[in-house]
Amino acid sequence: MGGSVTTVHMSAEVQALLGPFGMAQARKEAQAAQCAICTQMISSSGEANIVVTRSTDPTERLQVFFTHPACAPSTVTTLTTASPRNPAGDDMRMTALPAPADGHRLPILVAELACPVFVAQTKHTELTDVLAPYLQQHGFEPASDATTPPPPAAEGWAAVLAEDPAGAEAGAIGVLSIADAQGTDFFINTIRTPPTWRRTALERAEIALYVGPARLDPKDPDTGAQYRLLQHTARNGHLLAATVTLFDYAAL
Ligand SMILES: [Zn+2]
Repeated sequence: MGGSVTTVHMSAEVQALLGPFGMAQARKEAQAAQCAICTQMISSSGEANIVVTRSTDPTERLQVFFTHPACAPSTVTTLTTASPRNPAGDDMRMTALPAPADGHRLPILVAELACPVFVAQTKHTELTDVLAPYLQQHGFEPASDATTPPPPAAEGWAAVLAEDPAGAEAGAIGVLSIADAQGTDFFINTIRTPPTWRRTALERAEIALYVGPARLDPKDPDTGAQYRLLQHTARNGHLLAATVTLFDYAAL
């Protein structure tokens, strides 16, 4: 990490909503944030705008986003309908990695938000990550090592893997859906899978699901580099993990 500090811009309205404590938090979080618009790292420009969304319902929570100055202005946006359904939102990147040869032998999925989402329960309270508390309520636990101990089971969670209906790259691209114990979609999209990943995962009928800002590239074939990024995130205490039951769509 270089010593350069990202300069953070907040409109007067944003400052009033966040208050001194929220502003300090936002400045800190902006140093390692991704842009909510273009998803590139904020630090690439050295400047960030803070964007806040709130609902017309005063008991609803604020959401705080970070953008490059060129991508969006610092504003407060009022959402007319408050609907924090899936706290993970729709914008999630999923990377499949082979099972670690010396570890838990479960094929790995790594889920990352395209941009971090923080909320404040009320004005002037601490901004908190929405995703982590949700996952921990569902049995996910912090992982300090992403290869050796098998993560605890997320009871009631289910992943379903199907062939890509387009079939363009059969075996390399699949459709993955993951639902929580209440049946709420956590993820549903196509994923790229390394060679033999699908077969191994379906044989084991379980996958190790890690969630955290590992900054993996689902298209990068260098799995060694991806493992190192994942372990780095684990050692820094930013990774949550659970074992999730996997079903073959063709067998359902
Ligand atoms: Zn941007």
